[in-house]
Amino acid sequence: MSSYSFRSRAKSAPASTADFNQWWENFAVEKISTVGDGEESCSAFLEYIPRTRWEKSVFFGATGSGYGHAEMHALHQFVKLQCNYDIETFRAYAEQGIVVTCNEKPCCVRCACVLGALGIRAGEMTYKSTKGMGSTEWSLNYELREFVGKYKEVTPISLQDLGVWTYR
Ligand SMILES: [Zn+2]
Repeated sequence: MSSYSFRSRAKSAPASTADFNQWWENFAVEKISTVGDGEESCSAFLEYIPRTRWEKSVFFGATGSGYGHAEMHALHQFVKLQCNYDIETFRAYAEQGIVVTCNEKPCCVRCACVLGALGIRAGEMTYKSTKGMGSTEWSLNYELREFVGKYKEVTPISLQDLGVWTYR
């Protein structure tokens, strides 16, 4: 008589909520626990590392342009213009390497979380903070929320919680 027992076939529920801490950890870069200098202006750029040098494109973002923080603005440009909101297109670029550089101030805790969720890497002189960023309100616009939700297979509505999330 065998002592082997079959595993119960309990179905695991589909992920509907996001593990923000894990996503934040995914953005592998040195962390510093300071907030910015309080100035709202910041710029960032996103580039992907192409297989061939001449394919390379750079997307710029600035804080206060209606898309939230500079990193999210740059990400939105890329997702919209380069990927047309297509998950598989994005994934193909991510496999080659997508890099965000924000060297004026550290990426805030929420931007770092989104970048980590998408497997984006940090460029030179780019750091992340465990805190939010000064007085600039953080938001993820509708298109990005839908996109990240689809990419990570979580409900887009659960990403709204990111606006009030802090790393613990
Ligand atoms: Zn930010």
